[in-house]
Amino acid sequence: MPEAVVDRAAPTWQPTAVLVVSQRPRPGLGRIPSMFEALGVPAVALQAGQIGGSLPPPFHGAPHEVAVLAIDPESARAAWLAGAGLVAGLGSGLHGAALRQAGAELLLEAPSEIGSGSLLLAYAEKFANLPPPALGAWRGRPVALMFDFDGTLAPLPQRPADGVLPAAMRERLVRLLARHPLAVVSGRALADLATRLALPAAYLGGNHGLELRAADYDPEPLPQPAGWQPLLDAVHERLAGLPAEHPGCVVEHKGLTLAVHYRQVAAPAVAALRRAVVRAVAGFDGLLVETGRQVLEIRPAIDCDKGTAVTRLHERMQRLLGPCTPVFFGDDLADEAAFRAVRRAGGCGVLIADTGRPTAADYRLDSPEALLAALDALLV
Ligand SMILES: [Mg+2]
Repeated sequence: MPEAVVDRAAPTWQPTAVLVVSQRPRPGLGRIPSMFEALGVPAVALQAGQIGGSLPPPFHGAPHEVAVLAIDPESARAAWLAGAGLVAGLGSGLHGAALRQAGAELLLEAPSEIGSGSLLLAYAEKFANLPPPALGAWRGRPVALMFDFDGTLAPLPQRPADGVLPAAMRERLVRLLARHPLAVVSGRALADLATRLALPAAYLGGNHGLELRAADYDPEPLPQPAGWQPLLDAVHERLAGLPAEHPGCVVEHKGLTLAVHYRQVAAPAVAALRRAVVRAVAGFDGLLVETGRQVLEIRPAIDCDKGTAVTRLHERMQRLLGPCTPVFFGDDLADEAAFRAVRRAGGCGVLIADTGRPTAADYRLDSPEALLAALDALLV
């Protein structure tokens, strides 16, 4: 038996693609993607200029599912800010140090190392081993605490109407509000979220950021997208007949968005329901239909998500209270935009999930209960 058998079991997670990114054309660059493809992963070479605030299509929707091999520090920085799941650098010595400084999480010293699969292994292991946040280190420091609601502060409810903030969590949030600016950003309508939280001193984002509310100590209201209500009312009226034609579906009017829930619709009937929704909405300009978990969301086609909400709320907090580092806690895919936003603002994300998964968050806690216990480190 050989003495040192390296376990090369297939990684649990594999990036959807490896992007090889360089600031400028380089000889030999074009050969690198094929070295990843030999390992069974699609790969493409890009110039850093093609990465602005986000990765280019088709990668921009889920950058955390992509690994990047950066040739130079500018590329490592751009990929990190765009929310790439893993950023590796190609280089050693001073160049390697500069790549690390710019955000590279591991270094390959030469292209010949690609064949060992170490970059792919690092991607899989990163998400299997996301550490819990050391919240105690932030005690007394200017940190803005920002949370998702369902599945993060509150256990995930069977039905949206059943979501309840546990009393122990409310008690912690009240005490945290005395020390930190705090925000909650949810897919729920703002009024619904405000009622369930009952924390007037918290900043709020409802409808995935379409609705924002300032904390009670902030005298200036936050801008709201205006003029959409009549359009959404008209679409809602158009959709009113759906439950009769598609038994089990629920049409919800959330003020600035509409939701068609189909958790109770028989699986073979879902496709017809989706077609009916798309057909109904197609008659109106300026709206998007997005797919969520067992739900279709109909929303204004404007640049707005949990990431823009976190950015706006953080900017307001800083203007009012001075510099602070944002930390966002969330459990769902919609929270990835918020993880990317706090990363760009110099903060970090904490995924609430009982197992790891590819994410732009830096840390993981198992459950809302684990979050409750972790928050105590900020209060002692
Ligand atoms: Mg959630």
